[in-house]
Amino acid sequence: MEQQLDLLPLALPGLELKRPIVISGPCSAETEEQTLETAHALAKRGFKIFRAGIWKPRTRPGAFEGVGTKGLPWLKKVKEETGMYIAVEVANANHVYEALKFGVDMLWIGARTTANPFAVQEVADALAGSDVPVLIKNPVNPDLELWIGAIERVNRAGIKRIGAIHRGFSSYDKTEFRNNPEWPIPIELRRRIPELPIITDPSHITGKSESIYSLSQEAMDMNFDGLIIESHICPEKAWSDARQQVTPEQLTEIISKLVLRRSKIGDTPRVTLDELRQKIDKLDNQLLEILKSRMKISEAIGKYKYDNNITILQNRRYDEVMNNRKTQAEEAGLSSEFVIRVFEHIHEESINRQNVIMNKELARD
Ligand code: PEP
Ligand code: MN
Repeated sequence: MEQQLDLLPLALPGLELKRPIVISGPCSAETEEQTLETAHALAKRGFKIFRAGIWKPRTRPGAFEGVGTKGLPWLKKVKEETGMYIAVEVANANHVYEALKFGVDMLWIGARTTANPFAVQEVADALAGSDVPVLIKNPVNPDLELWIGAIERVNRAGIKRIGAIHRGFSSYDKTEFRNNPEWPIPIELRRRIPELPIITDPSHITGKSESIYSLSQEAMDMNFDGLIIESHICPEKAWSDARQQVTPEQLTEIISKLVLRRSKIGDTPRVTLDELRQKIDKLDNQLLEILKSRMKISEAIGKYKYDNNITILQNRRYDEVMNNRKTQAEEAGLSSEFVIRVFEHIHEESINRQNVIMNKELARD
């Protein structure tokens, strides 16, 4: 489906947003002192946009759910004392009214809210008539259409300065990430809406302060536009997300280490890149030919199984194939998870082909 969005470049009054846009501050505003101290430490190091959660959507009741409206005057003070721009998360109409009343410069919609079209619509309706920039986090579930839907709802309310925040996706499996990055999803978002800035949230993707740098670099290598990173004056004492917050000092180190590679290939030595791309095209052709031959053999196997009355799925053979491919992958220096994923898809298609053959034979009998 074509996206019909009416967007303007993401901007804040009087501040040019240059790549990488950096937004930082605590997961939650906890006390006036913690909020102001963190903001001063960030402002001193040149950071311009301050984030802080006031209303916190927590997974289980009883956890710290944010200080609520009473934190908004603290943020106003941050603005007055440091000159930083302030950003907060909004999840309902009342949050929007309160935040705008206190002069919040930028709003973001959290991942749990994006997953709920009713909530997004309520926020969008409350935004009508305002021109505050809004960032929209991906929904907790890996659903690009839902993410785009939320962007459309906000845009239809008349908000033109919109950015997307890539914060990763929940999964039942325990992985090294708090939320799996699933890079193909924001990459597809970029393809679908090229003019939409994408800001990565490495804090909520990794869940670990020591991995923020490598994820941030990855986001830059994807040519994304910015980073939203949680920072706290004393991370180990944070009331929420303590494990993933960095100090303002560590943030400076992370940002200064980032390498911003060229996004245009015009002035790079084209010949080499063209040559490499030709090699890739050739190998892809070979891969396709091999897949074609493999599927032909699958069909022959399907016929054999039909003639001999054998079930299509043979668990022992399947386990054997997967185990062998895993070992072979490791020996070849390939990621075994990647190779297993590829072979799972190949196997699925092979089963489909065998099914088609069996049904054809059946129809002929
Ligand atoms: C947050 O930014 O503190 C937050 C609650 O994030 P998310 O919506 O990504 O879980
Ligand atoms: Mn957080």
